[in-house]
Amino acid sequence: MSPPRGLLADVVPFSWVDGPGNRFVAFLQGCNLDCLACHNPHTMPRSTPRAREVGVADLLAQVRPLAAFLSGVTVSGGEATLQAPFVAAWFEALRDDPATAALTRYIDSNGCATDEVWDLLLPLADGVMLDLKALDVAVHVALTGSGNDRVLTSLERLAREDKLVEVRLLVVPGINDGEDGLRRTGDYLATHAPGVPVTVIGFRPHGVRAAARDIPEPTPEERARYAAWVAAGVGPDLVRVV
Ligand code: SF4
Repeated sequence: MSPPRGLLADVVPFSWVDGPGNRFVAFLQGCNLDCLACHNPHTMPRSTPRAREVGVADLLAQVRPLAAFLSGVTVSGGEATLQAPFVAAWFEALRDDPATAALTRYIDSNGCATDEVWDLLLPLADGVMLDLKALDVAVHVALTGSGNDRVLTSLERLAREDKLVEVRLLVVPGINDGEDGLRRTGDYLATHAPGVPVTVIGFRPHGVRAAARDIPEPTPEERARYAAWVAAGVGPDLVRVV
């Protein structure tokens, strides 16, 4: 059987915002959510002429010369778990190559993956950073076009298996910025993902689709309030706001 190939939207050789330390990030093409506030809408279609196909060996070869300057690699998207066989093969190759074996391997995910996908990926991944768009189902549907059953199941499993390294909450004014919802989110995370750091991200209109461009950017004071409501559940030491 020929090795799986990936569909790549972009690569960033050095990033400080996609996991701990300095990371090589592969943004895979295609997503299974339709987020109003997506900052990478060009990565959403499952296929587009802008994306390029890549083999495991090609992507490994891009990392090897940089390995001495990296803490790890991250697969992001789009939704990286939609290309789970390719991600697994790339992570295996990174693990088995002496030049890249020390790099940590992280997945940035929207949490929609099935248990079968996590069964494949988790033994090869050091950690997962997971987006929780909203705890309330109706709000999740309004923000993403889908419910959040699968996301919550993933979050709880990843936390139980000690693979959940960060939960990201993108707060969009007028949609998921209510005090009650954010307090309940903090309580939920305290129960189901205790000790896991939470990043509260204030919506920014840069790069979003036309439908979201008129949504206001929260002020620093509003962002601090969001963080405080979440922190009331999980504890202030675990929450940072950006
Ligand atoms: S899950 Fe991420 S990549 Fe997919 S549509 Fe939502 S914000 Fe965009």
